Amino acid sequence: MRNAMIVIFLGAPGTGKGTQAVRLAEMQSMLHISTGDLLRKEMAAGSSLGLQVKDIVTNGGLVSDDLINKIMQNGITPKVSYILDGYPRTVPQAEFLDTYLATIGEKVAHVIFFTVAEDIIMKRLTGRQKCSQCGKDFNSYFHPSTKGNVCDVCGAPLSQRADDREDVIKNRLITYERDTAPLLAYYTGKGLVRNVDGALPIDILLAQLNAIVKGG
Ligand code: ADP
Repeated sequence: MRNAMIVIFLGAPGTGKGTQAVRLAEMQSMLHISTGDLLRKEMAAGSSLGLQVKDIVTNGGLVSDDLINKIMQNGITPKVSYILDGYPRTVPQAEFLDTYLATIGEKVAHVIFFTVAEDIIMKRLTGRQKCSQCGKDFNSYFHPSTKGNVCDVCGAPLSQRADDREDVIKNRLITYERDTAPLLAYYTGKGLVRNVDGALPIDILLAQLNAIVKGG
């Protein structure tokens, strides 16, 4: 069996990290941790963690490093392969992760950096819709439901993420440039970065990601 492998997906909101992470995790039998999905589940459940982070997340800011680091420390176990999507998002989080992984005998294998032009990012995010029942993804610009605002599979209403409003997306992009983009230099310095084009068709990009991960 292959050694455990930690792969980080890095890139602005809307560059396709989540879409690819789900597929690659399944093909490579890795676990996918999306900090955004995790926080949204807590918010939907109305847990104390969810209530604590709700305002920050819906305004496009970042939850505190301490809180996220604790969640990830509990979520990452030795000898398991992970795709980390949305973590780390600040240099202090990356430093924490390196230190924590060293204590469990693991290290980051690859940092895959996704890029997409900003006008496409805006359309991907403002147009993003999800079926509230079966979870099918739609985009009102690129692949709309044939039935308008209801799912063309199960007929349930489509929903939008609370942080996919144009003003919040702008905040998320500013937050990304300020807090997360510096991670590119951090990981380039360690020789770990692989660049991919997030605007490629899903299957073509997936094949590239598979090749990177299979390469070791
Ligand atoms: P995006 O699609 O913008 O990349 P995600 O779905 O990954 O967003 O995350 C949604 C929100 O959850 C972020 O805008 C932020 O408020 C919060 N969040 C997710 N990951 C982190 C993290 N590592 N540190 C701090 N906040 C985070």
